[in-house]
Amino acid sequence: MSSVPARRLARAVSLALLLTLPPHVAAAQTRGTVVLRAARVIDGTGKLLTNTDITVSDGRITAVRPSSGALPANGIDLGTRTVLPGLIDTHVHIGWYVNTKNRLHTESDGDSPATQAYSQAGNAWATLHAGFTTVQSIGEEDNGTLRDAINRGTIPGPRVLTSLGSMNERSAGGSPGSLRAVVRRFKAAGADVIKVFASKSIRDGGEATMSDAQLAAACGESTAQGLRSVVHAHSAEAVQRAARNGCTQVEHGVFADDITRSMLVRNGTFFDPQCGLVFHNYLDNKIRFEGIGNYNSVGFASMEKALPLAEAGIGSASRTPTLKLVFGTDAVAGAHGRNAEELVCRVRRGGQPAMDAIVSATSRAAESLRLDREIGRIAVGYAADIIATDGNPVTEIEATQRVVFVMRNGLVYRNDGARRR
Ligand SMILES: [Zn+2]
Repeated sequence: MSSVPARRLARAVSLALLLTLPPHVAAAQTRGTVVLRAARVIDGTGKLLTNTDITVSDGRITAVRPSSGALPANGIDLGTRTVLPGLIDTHVHIGWYVNTKNRLHTESDGDSPATQAYSQAGNAWATLHAGFTTVQSIGEEDNGTLRDAINRGTIPGPRVLTSLGSMNERSAGGSPGSLRAVVRRFKAAGADVIKVFASKSIRDGGEATMSDAQLAAACGESTAQGLRSVVHAHSAEAVQRAARNGCTQVEHGVFADDITRSMLVRNGTFFDPQCGLVFHNYLDNKIRFEGIGNYNSVGFASMEKALPLAEAGIGSASRTPTLKLVFGTDAVAGAHGRNAEELVCRVRRGGQPAMDAIVSATSRAAESLRLDREIGRIAVGYAADIIATDGNPVTEIEATQRVVFVMRNGLVYRNDGARRR
């Protein structure tokens, strides 16, 4: 329950947000039935359709069929643009932002709660505007507040799944029993996923920090609670421990080798190595990070050294048959809205086939989130999370950086110049 002044404030805030959106955004939001027409549709599973009409009713896709006849009065003709499912990023830190002093926001920087909240809302809007309609934020407690505000329709943003925090080898003392209790506490607080740190940061060398017994407890309890476990692991040993102890997904894995990748395959573990955006973003924004925690000269040097390894790692992963390679950027402050740069890196620098990269950011990402019956495809019954790009990303992956249309749950948030009849 909110007081009258609080409600007035909320109304003023949403009005202010509305006024700052480009006119085509506010004007184009519709419910009911709408038909989208496009010359080219990538369905999210690797299929390409041509001259297709997609009918959306009350936020769901209700028909996908060959274009025919005149578009209904409220139809949206996307012309020669390429339609695809809203992109999914399985690893972001939606709460990280550059503060009012042009530095990485930290708890002690003096930013007000309102500045923090608006900055997070800004990250959410930048992400949605770039065509990412779902993100998994493996981050902090207040990501839940953002998730809930977006779900209520208070502010525009992608669907957010969040871990609400993370655990490591020292959490609650680190015994298997106490690690299990930590998982249950996250579950009770409303976490969508459990984030586990099982190795040091790449800036500190990346070696394993959690034992088999600890990972068995953390990931085993996650499974018992019906939650997925996403594990930060860089060294081969750390990745292997996560795989053999039933963890759902491994992040980073910069030092994974062939044996490690085959263990991931054997255990059906999703794998999300990064190609470049996270490193380039840190290096581009060095002045904003330097001097905070392990963002020091040694840390930046390790990231520069990791770049060629990371690019090669994408290539090896994408050439490993049946490895469940998924898309995640590890977007931090400065990278929100640049998520598609990682797709470009994976294809151009890592050599992943473009269609496979797109699948890894749509239907396969949805599978990794256990939302594969809900999002990640242009198909009947799926949520109407639909975007369009200027150009065909299968032949030119850079087109994913030219998103011109964004619909989420049937609401249009972006429609740059598409003809509306
Ligand atoms: Zn991360």
